[in-house]
Amino acid sequence: MAQMAMVMNLDKCIGCHTCSVTCKQAWTNRTGVEYVWFNNVETRPGVGYPRTYEDQERWGGGWVRNKRGRLKLRSGGRFTKLTHIFSNPTLPEISDYYEPWTYDYDVLLSAPQGEHTPVARPKSLLTGKDMQIRWSANWDDNLGGSGETMADDPILAGMSQKVQAEFEQAFMFYLPRICEHCLNPSCVASCPSGAMYKRAEDGIVLVDQDACRGWRMCVSGCPYKKVYFNHKTGKAEKCTMCYPRLEVGLPTVCSETCVGRLRYLGLVLYDADKVLEAASVEDPTELLDAQRSVLLDPNDPAVVDAATASGIPRDWVTAAQRSPVWALISTYQVALPLHPEYRTMPMVWYVPPLSPVVDVVTGSGNDGEDARTLFAAIDKLRIPVEYLAGLFTAGDTAPVTGVLQRLAAMRAHMRNVNLGVEQDPRIAGAVGMDGA
Ligand code: SF4
Ligand code: SF4
Repeated sequence: MAQMAMVMNLDKCIGCHTCSVTCKQAWTNRTGVEYVWFNNVETRPGVGYPRTYEDQERWGGGWVRNKRGRLKLRSGGRFTKLTHIFSNPTLPEISDYYEPWTYDYDVLLSAPQGEHTPVARPKSLLTGKDMQIRWSANWDDNLGGSGETMADDPILAGMSQKVQAEFEQAFMFYLPRICEHCLNPSCVASCPSGAMYKRAEDGIVLVDQDACRGWRMCVSGCPYKKVYFNHKTGKAEKCTMCYPRLEVGLPTVCSETCVGRLRYLGLVLYDADKVLEAASVEDPTELLDAQRSVLLDPNDPAVVDAATASGIPRDWVTAAQRSPVWALISTYQVALPLHPEYRTMPMVWYVPPLSPVVDVVTGSGNDGEDARTLFAAIDKLRIPVEYLAGLFTAGDTAPVTGVLQRLAAMRAHMRNVNLGVEQDPRIAGAVGMDGA
């Protein structure tokens, strides 16, 4: 089957939120969804948007394995928890997202001349009243692990106190997020009215607005909290991967407007029969390989024949062959899924950030261009490998280390190429880039 997928290179995200703002202008600039960001950019470490969404014990999203190894919805499923329609403890409240506001701009124009510049005070978009801003979609911005909410960051909380406490080891990076358009979407499985569906042709997950009855099981069921409730229409809404744009050959709004040009968008081919088996893998060290193995090599003639026989248009297969997504995930193996342990088989993957090596003894740092320095000091990266592993590999540090080493070798290689210096074969050989 074919699936639209995305890879984001986190090394290139500058946290400008252009993607979020242009997405909002295109899709959620309406009454009822003021608080909604189909695309949000959160600072890590941090608790994200809605806050603490990764705490699956609290919010009940994604899949868990039952005693027989089968997957079941953590939120209980569509029939056992219908009482949630009236009182659903696993639904985030507006305070978990944030109370949207505007400013009373009139004051800027009407204030009498005075000693100080007039200030436009925030007014709630929901009540119209003056408000105190206490939380927003990226409240953790640039706090580098030092904010008072950081104890709620599940990955940071599980790491050593040393990392949290020492200023020299503070770190931060940006994590842009959209709906993952999962291969095994728990939002679809939890919808009692059949309104959530995954398009057969390209795997985009959508909400049928006519069929939606506003029960919000999908909000609870999505572990990434990427379905939102429109309080005006009483229906669920979510990222559409800009399908009306894709259908006429345009990229998503977030991809097109991304300042860092870090979003790689493309079709991948996958084996639908392997999805549940891969999602059920118990051992965290096998989860990544299992999820990778579901994707098919679009250059394999047997895959091409099977795809064409199953009705996938030939030019779509060509698109999959040209797509950078397969190459980044499978050929170069530098992209990783966000929280594969949620078992929804997410289809937005990430190239993790390659941070500098920090020598806390001498206070010096290296920028990671010398791959050998990086190999020797993988435990001294500013962004700890274990933190990245908590996001991308269910805690398994080995694949993250491998990705960072490949990125460092590529950076060193390209630097040498650009400087006209002959490539150091030891760098290439150290990570198998010479084909060894
Ligand atoms: Fe559904 Fe998207 Fe959530 Fe996956 S990330 S469960 S496709 S809403
Ligand atoms: Fe990052 Fe691009 Fe979004 Fe800016 S527009 S925050 S660089 S993903």
